[in-house]
Amino acid sequence: MALIVQKYGGTSVGSPERIKNVAQRVAHHHRQGHRVVVVLSAMSGETNRLLALAREISANPSPRELDVIAATGEQVTIGLVAIALHEMGFKARSYTGGQVRILTDSAHTKARILDIDEGNMRRDLDDGAIVIVAGFQGVDAEGNITTLGRGGSDTSAVALAAALSADECQIYTDVDGVYTTDPRIVPEARRLDTITVEEMLEMASLGSKVLQIRAVEFAGKYKVKLRVLSSFDAPDSNAPGTLITFEEDENMEQAIISGIAFSRDEAKISVMGVLDKPGVAHAILGPIAAANVDVDMIVQNIGASGQTDFSFTVHRNEYQRALAVLAAERTKGFSAREIIGDDKICKVSVVGIGMRSHVGLASKMFKALADEGINIKMISTSEIKISVVIDEKYLELAVRVLHQAFELDKDDVAV
Ligand code: ADP
Ligand code: ASP
Ligand code: MG
Repeated sequence: MALIVQKYGGTSVGSPERIKNVAQRVAHHHRQGHRVVVVLSAMSGETNRLLALAREISANPSPRELDVIAATGEQVTIGLVAIALHEMGFKARSYTGGQVRILTDSAHTKARILDIDEGNMRRDLDDGAIVIVAGFQGVDAEGNITTLGRGGSDTSAVALAAALSADECQIYTDVDGVYTTDPRIVPEARRLDTITVEEMLEMASLGSKVLQIRAVEFAGKYKVKLRVLSSFDAPDSNAPGTLITFEEDENMEQAIISGIAFSRDEAKISVMGVLDKPGVAHAILGPIAAANVDVDMIVQNIGASGQTDFSFTVHRNEYQRALAVLAAERTKGFSAREIIGDDKICKVSVVGIGMRSHVGLASKMFKALADEGINIKMISTSEIKISVVIDEKYLELAVRVLHQAFELDKDDVAV
């Protein structure tokens, strides 16, 4: 008998029919003698709808109240799945994040989990009940409702699995595993049987939303056995999905490149003609950091005639704010000939642990893009990834040609 945490995403609970399907699958595992804790998202589209309602009333709503509003989406689905299980004759009890007591910090809309009280869940499991928990939400020390950031139900599930020392955390979604890239963009994308936690961390942080990055971090830190599966397969299908693994298996033929991630949420700012002298990078980025804007890539040109150009990227949501900060600082902190920006850019990244031991991958990537006439605006690399910033209009083409260039549609990858 195992203890399993199963998380179902928005599409998987998107209608009463699908709610009943979730209940069928949960029941299947319960009947097999397993203890099951279910973590649920809101119905697909619901969190967007709720947040848009708030924005119809205010352009700048209070984050505390946004959390109060957004958390209701998950409260609906937990009640519905509990009722569906009751209808089938099972004992089931639903809990909000606060009722479990998923304690978080007070960073509304992007709170971090600090502690989980497993008391209620253990008692119900001992009593033979199925436990159903609202994903995405928690409560801070003062009792305020908090949420964990978009896609946060994945993190709720992995954190609960860690707290309960579960045998496995299963993330049920609308695809049957982690693919070499988003199968909606490249139909030839291939499901991976396994992916290392390190690669999955890169993929998630570079834009693959199949798992929230913090969920992967939790899995790595607490060694949670994490698997991504389809909620549309039959409950008794033994589809393996994708297992997130902790160590490179030396015996396994490891692919050099595992996948391609992309993000549309990017914007680039260039500060042109600044003085090429110590302290200028700080004068530009210091106020940006003070305004709580995250900076991703940074590039400074080689100086000529005592001047240089300085470019960086930010999340597209923070683009206007970053421009406003620089406009205010321009005469005070630094002088510049011109500040220009572009929020029609995207980032495409190639990820793979095999990069550590193989050379020539960057040039292969750049050639594939050049052959399609795609101009690279910025480049950044780390040990296991290469990212490029390009025009947004080329995103899909770039992902497709890179997928092909690295032969990710084939089982035996040759590079
Ligand atoms: P859920 O609502 O179940 O949490 P998400 O929409 O958050 O589902 O995540 C699943 C989606 O992630 C898929 O439908 C797919 O379009 C997208 N996706 C992006 N990159 C990948 C990838 N490498 N492998 C699988 N799915 C991916
Ligand atoms: N419902 C939340 C969202 O849409 C959390 C989640 O689905 O994981 O972001
Ligand atoms: Mg998700």
